[in-house]
Amino acid sequence: MKVCIKCDSSENDFPKVGNICRLCLASIEKKRREKKRDEINAQRRNYYLENTEKVLSRNKKYQDDNRDKVRKINRDYYHSDPERRQSYQNARRKRVKLQTPKWLTKNDFKKIEMLYTISRFIKKNTGVEMAVDHIVPLNGKYVSGFNMPENMQVITKLENEQKGNFHGSERRR
Ligand SMILES: [Zn+2]
Repeated sequence: MKVCIKCDSSENDFPKVGNICRLCLASIEKKRREKKRDEINAQRRNYYLENTEKVLSRNKKYQDDNRDKVRKINRDYYHSDPERRQSYQNARRKRVKLQTPKWLTKNDFKKIEMLYTISRFIKKNTGVEMAVDHIVPLNGKYVSGFNMPENMQVITKLENEQKGNFHGSERRR
């Protein structure tokens, strides 16, 4: 019987080769991926800080180019049927209401307002279309986020659309 050299357990499955169990291998792989992702993110961040204007104008160009393609298709679909549009909006309003905690304070609502103000401010000053996004989507597949400032962020509309959301400010699945 094999004993894992990482966790000293013999209870887990082992691959054909090696003395590390599948569970430990998976966590090693996960750490490796996270490290890699952190490195890539740090590179992107540095690149962004050193080339902010270039990145913003490239984003804007990309958005402009895509707005005519991708968004038109989505918008057409969305607007082609007023009933469907209305039902999307109703569903969204319901979801926001349902996911807004009863214990939100006035200050929380002010913070939410602030995020929309920031979003408009960035658009006005850079031309980049922004969106207020729910980090954990209100209708997530596994867990649903709250409509509260801590779960909200201002991101580009493009990023928001890449999250799969075309109509509101949360992910649709
Ligand atoms: Zn192990």
